[in-house]
Amino acid sequence: TDPEGTVSIAVVGLGNYARNVSIPAIEAGDYAEVGAVVSGDPEKAERVADEHGAVPLSYEGYAEGEAVDAYDAVYVATPNRIHLDQIRTAADHGKHVICEKPLEATTERATAGVDACEDAGVTLMTAYRMQADPVIRALGSFVSRGGIGEPTKAMGEFTFPVLAGSNGPDQWRLDAELAGGGALMDVGVYPLNTTRYLLGADPGAVEAMARASEPFGDRPDDPDSPRFADEHVHVLASFPEGVVGEFTASFSGEADSWLELVGSDGRVRIENAFVPGGDRTVRVTTGDGEVELSGIGADETREEFDYFAHCVLTGTPPEPDGHDGLTDVAIMGAIYEAAESGERVTL
Ligand code: NDP
Repeated sequence: TDPEGTVSIAVVGLGNYARNVSIPAIEAGDYAEVGAVVSGDPEKAERVADEHGAVPLSYEGYAEGEAVDAYDAVYVATPNRIHLDQIRTAADHGKHVICEKPLEATTERATAGVDACEDAGVTLMTAYRMQADPVIRALGSFVSRGGIGEPTKAMGEFTFPVLAGSNGPDQWRLDAELAGGGALMDVGVYPLNTTRYLLGADPGAVEAMARASEPFGDRPDDPDSPRFADEHVHVLASFPEGVVGEFTASFSGEADSWLELVGSDGRVRIENAFVPGGDRTVRVTTGDGEVELSGIGADETREEFDYFAHCVLTGTPPEPDGHDGLTDVAIMGAIYEAAESGERVTL
């Protein structure tokens, strides 16, 4: 169905992803537009608001409900540990929410965000762009139709050299409190969530090894912190029906991202799996032979915002909802627990 109108979105936090990817994606879509922008930097707020015909707001103004009529929904794009505050504000104002991954830094806070939206009767979507990616969606239906037989194994990696860009060691991603962890929370969530999506199942237990080192070294040993900012993490996850998941995420090393699903009758492998922009390579190997497709995909972030807006306009609950985001935060909490204790942790 083609609903009438558009959903006007308040973008909260004008950081890299919001300005460079999400705002252009919102503007490019059919069902969403930018109605307000919220920033701690008044000049940036003015400038970005001017570019998009939107209302500039400070965090205080947003919290106090200034210009609430200028938007119908809120996109939360701040550091992980602050998402809850902005979700609560949105729910208080009766606004629908699309919140960046991971949903929050801890299970407790993610739960509070889900509850706030449920109590207010507003939509909460976790911004898992992979679930809106046409290549991933097509593979999901291929796998669920038995394209590779019975799945037996899922493997994946996301390595993102966090210090290679313009941000130095004082960035929030390396602050275990603001980020809720390290590589796992930031990039490990991609192979984890995408595998859960493709298998349509959640792990029942996890084992893990993690390593924290140099730039993140002073926080892991803090006795008051139950978490540590992992530079590398390696996870074994036990899915139903004996399916094994094996994921690795890193904040250093050569950038790479891939995902492979193995089944009784074949396998699918996705290269450049989690990089924004939809330039994927997919190799499908079955008894019928091998097919490789390169450079396929679409701007999945545009798809994601259009999907969210379409859900809001039609009153449809989104698939990557708050519970989906909460489940990953809980699994990642179990992974940290497993890495710290060396024990298998059941969920
Ligand atoms: P940035 O550091 O580039 O931006 C975060 C913005 O949040 C800042 O620019 C700032 O905006 C605002 N902010 C508010 N409080 C703080 C604080 N205490 N410290 C730092 N910034 C603060 O991060 P990203 O854009 O890379 O990430 C933002 C969110 O988006 C995260 O949750 C991240 O996981 C997610 N993300 C998702 C991606 C995806 O592919 N879906 C890709 C990249 C990130 P201002 O100056 O306007 O106040």
